[in-house]
Amino acid sequence: METPPEPREDAPVPVKDEEIDTNWDEAIETFDNMELREELLRGIYAYGFEKPSAIQQRAIKPMLMGRDVIAQAQSGTGKTATFSIGILQQVDNGLAECQALVLAPTRELAQQIVKVMIALGDFMSVRIHACVGGTAVRDDIRTLQNGVHVVVGTPGRVYDMINRRALRLADTKIFALDEADEMLSRGFKDQIYDVFKFLPEQVRVALFSATMPLEVLEITSRFMQEPIRILVKKDELTLEGIKQFYIAVEREEWKLDTLCDLYETLTITQAIIYCNTRRKVDWLTDNMTQKDFTVSAMHGDMDQKERDIIMREFRSGSSRVLITTDLLARGIDVQQVSLVINYDLPTNRENYIHRIGRSGRFGRKGVAINFLTSGDVRYMRDIEAFYNTQIEEMPMNVADLI
Ligand code: ADP
Repeated sequence: METPPEPREDAPVPVKDEEIDTNWDEAIETFDNMELREELLRGIYAYGFEKPSAIQQRAIKPMLMGRDVIAQAQSGTGKTATFSIGILQQVDNGLAECQALVLAPTRELAQQIVKVMIALGDFMSVRIHACVGGTAVRDDIRTLQNGVHVVVGTPGRVYDMINRRALRLADTKIFALDEADEMLSRGFKDQIYDVFKFLPEQVRVALFSATMPLEVLEITSRFMQEPIRILVKKDELTLEGIKQFYIAVEREEWKLDTLCDLYETLTITQAIIYCNTRRKVDWLTDNMTQKDFTVSAMHGDMDQKERDIIMREFRSGSSRVLITTDLLARGIDVQQVSLVINYDLPTNRENYIHRIGRSGRFGRKGVAINFLTSGDVRYMRDIEAFYNTQIEEMPMNVADLI
């Protein structure tokens, strides 16, 4: 085993826990001024973007300068398009080799990134491939062997494809991690290192995340070179516009009836209900269904086909209430959701903003309702203090606020 290198002088020095220390403040306020390829610019405007978001204004240029980048901005602020544009600008479509590799923690997120990239690259004839578990290995191998320019995947399948020599990384210039904090903590870290070992030495690394815990930031100094660090501050993008409420249900067994009472409110638009475990999702779904309420459910134990169908139904609006785990909390962009219910409070503070923050994307309003047992009260106060926000008792007229 190699010993980890000594921390370098330029290793990021965080100002405070969870926040990176910005060392780059140049912002380019229009896509026109980013010196992008004409066909990419066309794709961006055709996709409906007019003006770059704060993180796009700051992080695209350093990627194009060939620097390593750590970019932190809240969910829903346009990070996906940031690295997608940064990558697409640098792809040589005359070379049928994987020139950029993006890893994401869930299949859904990887597929969503691919969709965004394909749309932005619509006028560029680039081949972008989603390399994720739950699909036929044989098809994956064939697609990769036919030549792709960008691969977006989950670590397990990507590593498998590398080992089978189907995915060659000799020409890979950019390695991007979405939800980098999640990717570099706990379960994923070793898998990321395994993939990283196969990348060329001069590969550039770009990390994107809404949160950046200190221990994760420390790891980055091991494989990044003098990274440009960009923080779009929390107070520019907060839980603002999202009304947060609690219902004191007191006991776990009273949550189900409370949810049934709320059902009409849920279906005014669309709602996501978060539970902390897959078993709880199944249990709640069964119980709601038995009581003749229509709900969909999704979690990581379900097979990919089923997950895809459920996401499609939910995005199209044909299903209106989705019960899920934190699998869906990170990064998934379901614009129309304006109500989130924490049937269980999340087990960590970061996931609170991942679950709730999403409903407020791009200035959209939203409502979040937290079910509180008596044991949860202290924890909710802790979340309030951490995000410097207020969670109030749910008023009778909540339906008017959605
Ligand atoms: P993140 O990756 O930070 O969670 P996304 O990239 O998913 O955020 O973006 C959130 C939503 O905002 C998406 O629906 C996306 O299409 C939209 N969006 C991103 N950038 C822009 C922009 N410059 N102008 C308008 N909408 C944008």
